[in-house]
Amino acid sequence: MRIIRSSTWPAGLGILLCLAFAPPIAAQSGDLNTRGTPIEELSSIDRERIERMLDDELTEAAAGLQLIEGQTGFDIRTRLIPERRTVVIELGTRAIPTHTGSELEYQQRQISLIALELLRNIIAVDGAEFRYGDKDIFEILPDPVPPPKHQTQETDPQKSTPPKVAIAGSHGLYFNYAQNDWTAQRPFINGMREDFVTPYFARDLATQLTSRGATVHKARTNETHIHAPTGEQWWRIAARYYLESILPEENGIWHSLPNATHATREEDEDMRSRPLYANHVGADYAIHLHTNAADGPGGADVRGTRGYYQTGRTADAAFAKQILCSMKQAIRSVAAYENWEVVETPEPGNYAENRLATMPSAIIELGFHTNADDARALQQTAFRNAAVKGIERGISDHHAGNACTDFRITEIPSFSAPAGTPMDMVVHFEGNPRFPVTLRTRNVSCSQGWSCGSATATYSAEQDSPITRTFACGTGATHTGNFTYVAWLTDASGIKTPEFQYTYSCTIDS
Ligand SMILES: [Zn+2]
Repeated sequence: MRIIRSSTWPAGLGILLCLAFAPPIAAQSGDLNTRGTPIEELSSIDRERIERMLDDELTEAAAGLQLIEGQTGFDIRTRLIPERRTVVIELGTRAIPTHTGSELEYQQRQISLIALELLRNIIAVDGAEFRYGDKDIFEILPDPVPPPKHQTQETDPQKSTPPKVAIAGSHGLYFNYAQNDWTAQRPFINGMREDFVTPYFARDLATQLTSRGATVHKARTNETHIHAPTGEQWWRIAARYYLESILPEENGIWHSLPNATHATREEDEDMRSRPLYANHVGADYAIHLHTNAADGPGGADVRGTRGYYQTGRTADAAFAKQILCSMKQAIRSVAAYENWEVVETPEPGNYAENRLATMPSAIIELGFHTNADDARALQQTAFRNAAVKGIERGISDHHAGNACTDFRITEIPSFSAPAGTPMDMVVHFEGNPRFPVTLRTRNVSCSQGWSCGSATATYSAEQDSPITRTFACGTGATHTGNFTYVAWLTDASGIKTPEFQYTYSCTIDS
């Protein structure tokens, strides 16, 4: 296990910086580091001071990191780069490992999580970049498979046809040559193991996308028959072996490191097989489903959904951002998760799953399995349903060119009619709801002598704002009734508007 030893993360530097800079906007969930002081507005003295504080915090945290083969330590020096809204983290030449891959990506993620949590809401930074003796790691250890030519947004898939989507539920059992055995890629923690949770999300996302007409290619199977070498059911096995079984001739996909000799080489081949398979099937989009980890003291408090894209690829950033936006709407529409945190600005990074994909590609970290509440949600059907509906919606809307906008009721003018006479409740809304849309009401106050129930009305046909509900209030009353209600709309993806209060009256001629 990799343990980060830091007494102060994630709050320590944050408090120091808060005192130093008193950010004008209070911390709010949402965009990770888009709030906070832009780097270019810092004086050079302040920038230098923050960089040295970051150096100290990261040096302390890195001392607790497990070293990868070839590494002997870290010599950390950070720089804030205003043009790219980035923190460049120099790890030093002692941090150069013998091989790149899954372990290095995990280590970089842990360091970038700490750095970005420390800067959160204080300095506006989108992501972290890593250097080793002022070099990119791939300048030192070239990737045996050079990154393929990335499709740009100019060669858009045909938007009128449903998309082809490659889905990878991450990890699964792989063969480790040090243990000389099959093993999972992630630890069992808080009642779950990432390797065996993501396949459920992949399965349900595939169902959602298929029901919208999309073509889906999954890198792992959900089948339950036995994988002979492990005696385990096939759905628990990593993509590398499933792809080997269905594409035995295509060893470039599942055996892309034929010359590697390190013990975790098949774990690395597994990670690489997911984007390489997406390229092979000619997917329009690739989506990699993970659960996140923040190790060490304080890490257990880090929560929420995040997305990652390949640094520099703007089409991928837009794709990831739209998925996160729809996920936030869908997840927060479930009462139990109404405060669920989704960081809507995706983070740039250099991860093989995105880097090796030729199409817009996003890593979605559904929640933190290192946080007990997140881990509980990740294992619950209600959370999974909402999350996959949000992801499907993000992909479909992005493909169709529909923006992710807030769904809300803007106005319900007061209305009135004599008892027994039809009247119109007119509901104005904003957003791009998917139909059918359901209108629900709940009574807040009711004139004496009247009985005030709730109502539900469903609108199947797509229509623009407003929608109208026509109804008559009951006869037999002896005096005019005045009513206060709230109404809300729920769309076909389960995305709800906030409640909106309105009034109406039923008049009695006397
Ligand atoms: Zn993962």
